Amino acid sequence: MKVTRIAFSHRLNTGKYAQLAEQARRLGRVRAMVWARYGSPVRDGVKDRAIRDQWMADGTADAFGVLANAWKETVRDAVADITAHREAGKVKVRKTVHRRYKDETRRKKAYTDLKYGRWQDDAFLARKMRQYLQHGVSRMANQIVVRSDQYSTWTMADGNVWIDIPGLERRQKIAIPLNTTVAPTGTLRLILRSGRVEVHYAIDAPDLRESRPCGTGKSGVDKGYTEVLTDSDGNHHGEELGVLLRCESDYLKIKNARRAKIRSLAEKSREQGDQAKADRIERNNLGTVKRCRRRSRFESRVRTVTFTAVHAVIDKANHVVAEDLTRSFPSRRKLGKNTNRRLAAWTKGVTAEALTSVSERRGSALTLVNAAYTSQVVPCCRILGKRSGDRLHCTRCGDVWQADHAGAINILERDEDPDISLYTPHTRVKQLIQERADRRRTRLPVQDSSPTGRRANYPIRVAMLKEWEAGGHA
Ligand SMILES: [Zn+2]
Repeated sequence: MKVTRIAFSHRLNTGKYAQLAEQARRLGRVRAMVWARYGSPVRDGVKDRAIRDQWMADGTADAFGVLANAWKETVRDAVADITAHREAGKVKVRKTVHRRYKDETRRKKAYTDLKYGRWQDDAFLARKMRQYLQHGVSRMANQIVVRSDQYSTWTMADGNVWIDIPGLERRQKIAIPLNTTVAPTGTLRLILRSGRVEVHYAIDAPDLRESRPCGTGKSGVDKGYTEVLTDSDGNHHGEELGVLLRCESDYLKIKNARRAKIRSLAEKSREQGDQAKADRIERNNLGTVKRCRRRSRFESRVRTVTFTAVHAVIDKANHVVAEDLTRSFPSRRKLGKNTNRRLAAWTKGVTAEALTSVSERRGSALTLVNAAYTSQVVPCCRILGKRSGDRLHCTRCGDVWQADHAGAINILERDEDPDISLYTPHTRVKQLIQERADRRRTRLPVQDSSPTGRRANYPIRVAMLKEWEAGGHA
């Protein structure tokens, strides 16, 4: 298991930054060229070595204006990106193969063709690959990849590490002061962002796997809005998330309104012919350095809260059942200007990532299930309840549930559900829920007073809801 660590440059002078930025810009052209020539979905398996040899032989490389090692590493990196992009496309195509071919041998042949890059011979595969894998384009021009034998590190008297990166000329080195006492190792990825250099590198993390074993239970989890997760025992994890999101979205709302006002002032000046004033405003009042920094600070806080919450769930469980949070992402356009909802959508992705990576690291199982209607079914009578705010009312027995808790229980039960798979359409899910409820009603009399066996399993409800509200949730 590899984990990525990031070190940041500390008070790097602007001259050095400009030199690195120029190098990154030139390497960006190399990267774009690799994508333009080899990023097409119709071809497979181009080796970076072949590209390198060709570009050295035909003189393409002479125009790059960077050292040989730098562009070669960029080619290798870009080819790895293209491969990853293509493999992601293959996953989608595999699903369509399953639907298209009913015959098992035919399916198997298609899977093999896909795996070994022979989809051009199969009209259906070729069409699907083109559909899912539009020709990629790279506009990334802020990265430098440095191989482990191309840089050196040393420690200053204050304990902080410096790093020597090759410049544009032979034997020229650019020394970057870092904000850490731990020297980066292996291949580095330098990312230049708003005046700072981020040094990304991968390290082995065997200690992480051993230090904290997972629990022994099985838990369903539901993604909430005021907390990261609620589990099927009714515990809330990462309750700070709600406040964090609300504060940030309130702040952004005000800040963005003010920026809009200033921007319109700049535009007005430009219309009146005062170009200098407009430039001045844009330079001094509409910069992005602080905004980017705040954004990354906020993101790292959300990540910390999210990962802590997921760890807490896995402390108890060795099998976590969750909704597939990467499916059905609302589009950016659909969310519009509503900052709060946009931030909430973004945290879904972080939670999905945390669930996958913490499970992998701590050796617990993660099952993704179909989440259709899990937030609307009441676990007591298994009918569609009536939602009001955070509560879910059962219209048959009158029980009141905390909605996220009910969701977590339903998600847990979905894992054992023989009829509802991850890909069952939500209309069919609703139909199934109603059919089952009808069947249960004709078989059992409606029980208003005496609790059934199933109900005894869930002794929470009203008492717990009160307790939950006392904790300041309502
Ligand atoms: Zn009920």
